[in-house]
Amino acid sequence: MSDRSSRATHLFFGGDAATHLPRVLAILGAERAFVVTTGGRSAAMISPAEILGESLCDVFSDAREHVPVDTVAAALARFDTARADVCIAIGGGSAIGLGKAIARARIVPLVAVPTTYSGSEMTSIWGETSANGKITGRDPAAKPRVVIYDIALTFGLPADVSAASGMNAIAHAVEAMYAGNATDTTRDEAAESVRLLSSSLPAIIVNGADALARKMAFEGAHLAGKLLDATSMGLHHRICHVLGGSFRLPHARTHACVLPHVVSFNAPAALDAMTRLGAAIGNADVAAGLAALNRTLGLTATLGDLGLRSSDVERAADEVTATPYPNPRPFSREDIRAILMGAL
Ligand code: NAD
Repeated sequence: MSDRSSRATHLFFGGDAATHLPRVLAILGAERAFVVTTGGRSAAMISPAEILGESLCDVFSDAREHVPVDTVAAALARFDTARADVCIAIGGGSAIGLGKAIARARIVPLVAVPTTYSGSEMTSIWGETSANGKITGRDPAAKPRVVIYDIALTFGLPADVSAASGMNAIAHAVEAMYAGNATDTTRDEAAESVRLLSSSLPAIIVNGADALARKMAFEGAHLAGKLLDATSMGLHHRICHVLGGSFRLPHARTHACVLPHVVSFNAPAALDAMTRLGAAIGNADVAAGLAALNRTLGLTATLGDLGLRSSDVERAADEVTATPYPNPRPFSREDIRAILMGAL
């Protein structure tokens, strides 16, 4: 059905997921669909049974943030029992992350129907978390073969999740702008992604059913996901990886909190990137612009509010500096400590 070399992702943008899903299964030659979601309100927006009829063989509604290994094991057991030949992830980065784990483990195609702005649907980056922390990697088999963007599925996305996952996407675009392997094309896309997201997210907070704002945010998140896949992320992503994987902080809100602090640190070493990002966000001081955007979106939590204790800072700084990481400005353990203390 699938092979590890198939990298192309086919996009349906602005369509109706209910209409597209059965056609997508037919194109993939799949007959037994296994759906993964995070359950709750995100699952209620769409009825896999109605849409897929007899093609649906099971729905696993217990996807969790950071893809815990025991969740993967439970989902794989159900997938095998169902004798499924395709995985459909409906939801945010948590559902898509579980879908990636299944796609890698069983070499089946993954269809992603994103309902947040995480951007995960556009990447081959997978992650799994165990008692030993979070491991991530890149695998073409994890990359969704088909992505269906349906803005109707986002109208009910709560304001706080919209805001936080949108800031997670902005973080991808910001670090793509100063990535060592950035190109003219990726820099243009990064500027466009930040412009789209920073102008649409405040409107979404006011009115979650604003169709134009939802469309712009999806476009910005799509670009951000492409950039996350195509460029090397820097210190910001490294810090958030450690805080989420080893200290269990919530992924998207941690990104929102940390981003202005890392941008403030990196700015002197990335002047051209700051000029372009400043124009995109409407503030020449990019770190101040990001902090102001956080406030507008109600994202005022500190790392302390999100669960980091001051006694965790030393260990977090050790973990961040344990692995060399590409970043425009060289950093020391003391720099990381200062960034974490500033965000605490
Ligand atoms: P999420 O998927 O955990 O969703 C957050 C909450 O929103 C959940 O409770 C979910 O049920 C709910 N929800 C989702 N869509 C909804 C909707 N339309 N209406 C109502 N409720 C809805 O959050 P996220 O920020 O999208 O994803 C975070 C996860 O994604 C993390 O585990 C992170 O590591 C991962 N991620 C991976 C990549 C990658 O490329 N691999 C990129 C970004 C994020």
